Amino acid sequence: MKIHEFQSKAIFAKYGVPIPEGLVATTPDEAGEITRGLGGKSVIKAQVHAGGRGKAGGVRLVSSADEAVDFASQLLGTNLVTAQTGSEGVPVRKILVEETIEVADEFYLAFLVDGSTEGVVAIASSEGGVDIEEVAESSPEKIIRISVDPVLGLQPFQGRKIAYALNIQPDLVRSMSSVLAKLYDVFVSNDCSLVEINPLVITKENKILAVDAKINIDDDALFRHKDLADLLDSEQEDPGETEARKFDINYVKLEGDVGCIVNGAGLAMATMDVVLSGGSKPANFLDIGGGADEEKVANALRIVLMDSDVKLVLINIFGGILRCDVAARGFVQYGKMNPSIMRHMVVRMLGTNADEGRKILSESGLNITLVNDLAGASKAISALL
Ligand code: GDP
Ligand code: MN
Repeated sequence: MKIHEFQSKAIFAKYGVPIPEGLVATTPDEAGEITRGLGGKSVIKAQVHAGGRGKAGGVRLVSSADEAVDFASQLLGTNLVTAQTGSEGVPVRKILVEETIEVADEFYLAFLVDGSTEGVVAIASSEGGVDIEEVAESSPEKIIRISVDPVLGLQPFQGRKIAYALNIQPDLVRSMSSVLAKLYDVFVSNDCSLVEINPLVITKENKILAVDAKINIDDDALFRHKDLADLLDSEQEDPGETEARKFDINYVKLEGDVGCIVNGAGLAMATMDVVLSGGSKPANFLDIGGGADEEKVANALRIVLMDSDVKLVLINIFGGILRCDVAARGFVQYGKMNPSIMRHMVVRMLGTNADEGRKILSESGLNITLVNDLAGASKAISALL
């Protein structure tokens, strides 16, 4: 789950990670008021669940309360389109108004879960403020990675190692490694999947400050962080992803036009590969998850069809605990009740009660192509698109 920068910074403050002074505004007048309180200068930042705001015009330094009011009225109520959003962008309802910082140096710092080391990894770079993906591509030697032992946690020597690798002044090494330790604490204590500061700044006064803040929380841990779950701003999310969350369906919207409904995460990934290798593009990842019944199956279809890009739905069910006849009834029930939004379905069904499931589908009167294997599915998709 993503949260806003101002929410991430509130968590940072709680753990002692230094942040600039600032407040959230929801109206232009408030932005003016806060700027006045900061001495007539501020940096105004759109609060959206996407990075790349700076380049997209969502961050601006203003030098008077009037200028703050002007910029805030330009920003509030509009949609901000950045390199990380879709073409329609995300709505700006809140802005963060902060003291301006005189930057001497900028760094990149993050903790994230690394599948290949099965643990947390710290990533740092002296190339802060810019696109870290770009740095990784053009000058990978400028990216430092340090694996953290899950039992020992981040060790002080690792903090110092990062600080030295960043080439910061000797008198700042101690505070840099202290910031790293606190940030690791934020990561572990809140079950984060990502904590990122870009840029982490050394100010002209020689202080370390998190000028930007990004925290993603592991969805599967939200049950033990009620306070964090409450931070969800669903308006910032894809409506399908928000719906899916309610029904415990794993859904991720993608850019293509072939909707995918699959039971099992691994099978869902393999299914997306099949779509891609056939020259088409999946519109989503969807794993119905365990313990699905007819209603959950119907909801999966409804969620996939919420995406207006979907031209065709590929269903790949391997019947086990979820029986094929149950899945088939769910699809048919939803399809018959919502003929106007239905799309052609290509269905591969195998496993428990597959014959019964296929019979229910073929007798439903809905537009369905039954296939026997994934090669057949790929062929059917090419023919239908
Ligand atoms: P992002 O583009 O969404 O990652 O938003 P950021 O919070 O990183 O802001 C974009 C850029 O604005 C940063 O990389 C900084 O270089 C710059 N910036 C933000 N706040 C300040 C500030 O107070 N002073 C100065 N000089 N630059 C700032
Ligand atoms: Mn940033």
